[in-house]
Amino acid sequence: MQGLMQDWPLLIHRIIDHAGIQFPGREVVSRSIEGPTHRTDYGAIRARSLQVAQRLGRQGVRAGDRVATLAWNTWRHLESWYGITGLGAIYHTVNPRLFPEQIVWIINHAEDRIVMTDLTFVPLLESIADRLPGVERYIVFTDAAHMPATSLKNAVAYEDWLQEADGDFRWVELDEKSAAGLCYTSGTTGHPKGVLYSHRSNVLHSMSLANPDCLGLSSRSVVLPVVPLFHANSWSLAFSCPMYGAKLVMPGMRLDGASIFELMESEAVTMAAGVPTVWLMLLQHLQKEGRRLSTLKRMLVGGSACPRAMIEAFEHDYGIEVVHAWGMTEMSPIGSCGSIKAQLSHVEGNALIDLKAKQGFAFFGVEMKITDDAGKSLPWDGKTFGRLKVSGFAVTRGYYGIDDAGLLDADGFFDTGDVATIDQDGYMQITDRSKDVIKSGGEWISSIELENLAVAHPDVHEAAVIGVAHPRWDERPLLIVVPKEGRTVDAATVLAFMQDRIAKWWMPDDVQVVDEIPHTATGKINKLKLREIFGAYRFPGT
Ligand code: ADP
Repeated sequence: MQGLMQDWPLLIHRIIDHAGIQFPGREVVSRSIEGPTHRTDYGAIRARSLQVAQRLGRQGVRAGDRVATLAWNTWRHLESWYGITGLGAIYHTVNPRLFPEQIVWIINHAEDRIVMTDLTFVPLLESIADRLPGVERYIVFTDAAHMPATSLKNAVAYEDWLQEADGDFRWVELDEKSAAGLCYTSGTTGHPKGVLYSHRSNVLHSMSLANPDCLGLSSRSVVLPVVPLFHANSWSLAFSCPMYGAKLVMPGMRLDGASIFELMESEAVTMAAGVPTVWLMLLQHLQKEGRRLSTLKRMLVGGSACPRAMIEAFEHDYGIEVVHAWGMTEMSPIGSCGSIKAQLSHVEGNALIDLKAKQGFAFFGVEMKITDDAGKSLPWDGKTFGRLKVSGFAVTRGYYGIDDAGLLDADGFFDTGDVATIDQDGYMQITDRSKDVIKSGGEWISSIELENLAVAHPDVHEAAVIGVAHPRWDERPLLIVVPKEGRTVDAATVLAFMQDRIAKWWMPDDVQVVDEIPHTATGKINKLKLREIFGAYRFPGT
């Protein structure tokens, strides 16, 4: 027997409709690329999204077509997503931090017909446009007064283009499983791979992630997404903020500590989300200037492991709740958050920081397991490492345009490529990427754990650990460190600091001090590059 409830497809435009009805005056504040702060609200964003959809339709864009956006977090970027999806087309976020060759590759692979972009990226696009034969038009997120002279095909200032539509438009009716967004993983190995979100997966993910243990959103929240819309679906914030009526504060292109601090204070931000590098810059700013954040209550940190020392500093010194989250592009993108469950409410001091340094537990809509190489499930004891596999309504089952029939295991789980432990309370801890884990004498050593320990040393700014071939143990860990500005470090003091804090056989065999560690386009330590740089390195005496 079927239930007798209405069929109400989970479509993205319903979110902006809801925001337009319930929270029309709730603000969206942006640092514009042209310079001044721009203020609008959900009512206006909805009206302009309808114009975007109508105007794109006149342009010949149809349901299923891909429209690229290469832009910072601003109100224009936000309304373009709603306009594109409201027409049934697909927003394809392009990460400007990728190498130009990768950008060419993904725009061609996605067969984007239109590229919407910020002023900042016009020169970049001009330098590659002759290799993008499928792009029919470039729309620059600006007005006529700021529009540069450009060789880009059919280039137009967004505001002029938008004025050619009056917004008298009805959202296109769609199946909720229709594709809505496309985001390519950065492809540190091989070509980038496209993850294709649906309306349904984005709506459900945003609803679920907003829960009090993760984003904790309400109509009283003021949210600063430092995490860019162009990376990993903006951690759902482009959808969950209007869905719950949270005020949105968009930082544009200024992501340094001082700029973020200023924006948080001037707009009374209560929650912010970003990668550890950004929060490290903010922390350094607070420490250097002796300032405090007067309204920020919670920060969501993810994308790479959040250093324990940073959690401690924000929580103890500044009274800000740090929620460590984990996820990946393939998961829409968040899969777990590190709030404290009721049964652990007695935990305090160092043990609490240890708990918060874990990547948290899966929220509703995400199932997790850890397995050995043969696919056998491993125990949740907080010690046993295994391949982390996930399943859920917002987890990918394939990549765009790739024949990958065997991507999921027999139970429908996706292998994340991460190695993790899960404890008795359900808290997961990433110990490594499966390709970065150090295999020493048949046992695994977590490079991340060693890195976290090394950065706790007061003179170490950043640390990376890679496995280097060893004649007896297959591989042993090599620690690479960058000292803090104006400080010096040497191998002996760093090793002495680590000595009694980890098992003896985990101790790095050597330490190299360098000026800089290479990063990927998404700000993560580029281990591939590090392995290249230290390709000829051998441990003393081997
Ligand atoms: P990209 O490589 O393009 O940045 P993703 O954002 O999809 O792509 O990266 C996902 C990967 O980032 C995860 O599989 C995991 O290895 C790592 N990661 C994400 N969050 C965390 C975290 N909190 N701690 C440790 N690693 C993390």
